[in-house]
Amino acid sequence: MRPLIKTPTVAWMPDGKVRDYRVCTRCVMDTTDPDITFDAAGVCSNCHRFETSIRPYWKPDAAGAAELDALLHEIRTKGAGKPYDCIIGLSGGVDSSFLATKLLEWKLRPLVVHVDAGWNSELAVNNIEMILSKLGLHLDTVVIDWNEMRDLQRAFLKSHVANQDIPQDHAYTAALVRKALEHDIRYVISGTNFATEGVLPQGWGYDAMDATQLRDIHRRFGEGTLKAYPVMEFQDYFGTMQQRLRFIAPLNFMPYDKTAAIAHLEQNFGWRYYGGKHYESIWTRWFQAHYLPTKFGYDKRKAHLSSLIVAGSMTREAALRELDKPLYTDNELTDDTAFVAKKLGLTVDELEGYLTAPPRHYSDYSTNAAQIEQFCRRKSRKARLRQIATRFSKDLPRRIAGKLSSMLASPKS
Ligand SMILES: [Zn+2]
Repeated sequence: MRPLIKTPTVAWMPDGKVRDYRVCTRCVMDTTDPDITFDAAGVCSNCHRFETSIRPYWKPDAAGAAELDALLHEIRTKGAGKPYDCIIGLSGGVDSSFLATKLLEWKLRPLVVHVDAGWNSELAVNNIEMILSKLGLHLDTVVIDWNEMRDLQRAFLKSHVANQDIPQDHAYTAALVRKALEHDIRYVISGTNFATEGVLPQGWGYDAMDATQLRDIHRRFGEGTLKAYPVMEFQDYFGTMQQRLRFIAPLNFMPYDKTAAIAHLEQNFGWRYYGGKHYESIWTRWFQAHYLPTKFGYDKRKAHLSSLIVAGSMTREAALRELDKPLYTDNELTDDTAFVAKKLGLTVDELEGYLTAPPRHYSDYSTNAAQIEQFCRRKSRKARLRQIATRFSKDLPRRIAGKLSSMLASPKS
């Protein structure tokens, strides 16, 4: 099969419809996003979503700086006397690496966790070691059981869904959350940011934290059992975790420029760039630059470049020039494909076979949609009861008031 190295203009549509090709007049998102719509001026729904749902929460200004100061003060105060006041997951990528270097400036005492799911590039390992030795921080590495990880990844390939990064992403979050709970840490510092990730089409992937889907795909296509792999069940994700942890994304409260962040890391920490977003993992590079564009017609660079455009740090012309560059050079692709195949215990032909087989939609498998609905129903019932309790608390007989408050306190109500 001839490797696809240019950005695709046609994508697989779950409904089988064929659409005329069209690209946004403001960003570079196009009809390869199955859910995209355009206004009269040709501006796309991703651009509009950024303005209405993200920009109001993005504060790279004085107000953001004040808010961040208050948050940092809260983290330091609440964590006083504990071994750590926060936790950060370090992948070795730009965002988390840059953030790790800021934590000491902010006088925080982080537990730094790296989750090794088997795909670290040598460069990523070097970058992590370099940063931590300069910062004088200890690294807590969680190694995911490789036999189970490989079994799960092979099961996902056989499922033919778009988001093949779920086994890796799920493990990252689940392992990090377990560490936080184990060490009684309340604050999780995340490198996620609106400056470079404001556009991400939902239709290109699926929620990595859906344990129902993960288990269903493994049950159908896996060979072994998942014993050591950290599965985060629905209740833990929506219940325990959200009650006990607070996620903070400091990069949204300060001006964050990726080029400047890379320069800072290179000059002060001897860190080296990977050449693409999330390319610190060889698997992710192959998945994003080959599997997704070849099988589905999705080129994640479009979302990334569009994020920079809507955030005002790149022109549309520069982004289009960037998209003209090949996704892979032939040699790199051959090397990566051979590496991925060998690591997963497949022949190159078997691996390439997954690319040519028909795609499937995530909804072809079980999802946690029913659990989410039930959870929301409980939440709204709880909210209604709370409203009644607040409104009538003075007039309620003590016995009923007591019952109501115990119902509100119970996680089952
Ligand atoms: Zn747009």
